[in-house]
Amino acid sequence: MKIKDIGGEFALIDRLADLVALNHAQVVQGIGDDAAVIRTAPEPAPYLLVTTDLLVEGRHFKSTWASAHQIGFKASECNVSDIAAMGGTAQWMFVSLALPEDTEVTWVEKLYQGIMASCRQHGTALLGGDTTQGPTTTINIALLGSVLPVHLCLRSQARPGDRLMVTGCLGGSAAGLALLISGRKPSDYLLKKHLEPRCRMDVAGLIAPLANAMIDISDGLGAEVHHICTQSKVGAEIDAKKVPLQDEVIQAGRMIGVDPMQWALGGGEDFELLFSISPQNLPTLLQSGVDCYEIGRVTNQAGRALLIDADGHATPLTGGYNHFG
Ligand code: ADP
Ligand code: MG
Repeated sequence: MKIKDIGGEFALIDRLADLVALNHAQVVQGIGDDAAVIRTAPEPAPYLLVTTDLLVEGRHFKSTWASAHQIGFKASECNVSDIAAMGGTAQWMFVSLALPEDTEVTWVEKLYQGIMASCRQHGTALLGGDTTQGPTTTINIALLGSVLPVHLCLRSQARPGDRLMVTGCLGGSAAGLALLISGRKPSDYLLKKHLEPRCRMDVAGLIAPLANAMIDISDGLGAEVHHICTQSKVGAEIDAKKVPLQDEVIQAGRMIGVDPMQWALGGGEDFELLFSISPQNLPTLLQSGVDCYEIGRVTNQAGRALLIDADGHATPLTGGYNHFG
């Protein structure tokens, strides 16, 4: 049986999670969230956060489209995004590389300049890694961070009645990629969204004390809503007309005949935050000036994630990138 036969990446991770099932007093959250959460000292001391991401040339980036600086910057931002999604701050980074024999030294140096540009923004220190030769350029970043226990936002903490919010417009990265694939030149905005995305650490600290569940949008809104529903044992309703799309994403959709909602729901790599918040906390959040949009609500219909169209018709919420799926 191959990975795709069991449903892809997420089904595989579920099986692996069963194999490593552990019940350790220090583990607040193991496999199943944006980062692992470890209690290293009694509360209210901060929890340790650990996340890791693997990027493979041809799969996650193409050196023909992205500069080494952009690839490094994005590799760091997608890890910081996972720490932001827990409500935490990023601290210690390790970078491991597999590089083909003919790799230019200057390319690797520029990759590191990109990583460091992101690290400077988030106050992250790069402390080590590993380097090996391999058939395809492969970049693995592991990032440690911390979060106050009262600020921790798990995927499993959404409650029926919560509002579902996103921190910015969706679909930009996928629209930029679709234009690149079609051979058209994306606008500067879409190109940046795809090649130099910025994670939302800038607002995560304001949201975390007020939100219940939080996740970053790396695989598309559809997939992330499903993750929250599964982990929180709740349902969700997303209002299609409230999902924020930039004009340039809508224009790109017209240009190549794609419904831009497909990019928002299934494209991924927007690195905005999706979170649930109680109606009581919503006014405080909005007063704080965080740019965010209400896109739906959490229901008590466990596992039922619905997309409500402009006419009020409900269909199952689909979309989401799934490696092997
Ligand atoms: P994200 O998109 O936020 O980076 P992923 O979908 O990659 O999250 O991973 C979801 C969860 O599965 C995380 O807790 C991650 O640590 C875990 N995970 C992914 N791949 C593996 C693996 N090969 N072994 C163990 N845990 C894994
Ligand atoms: Mg994530």
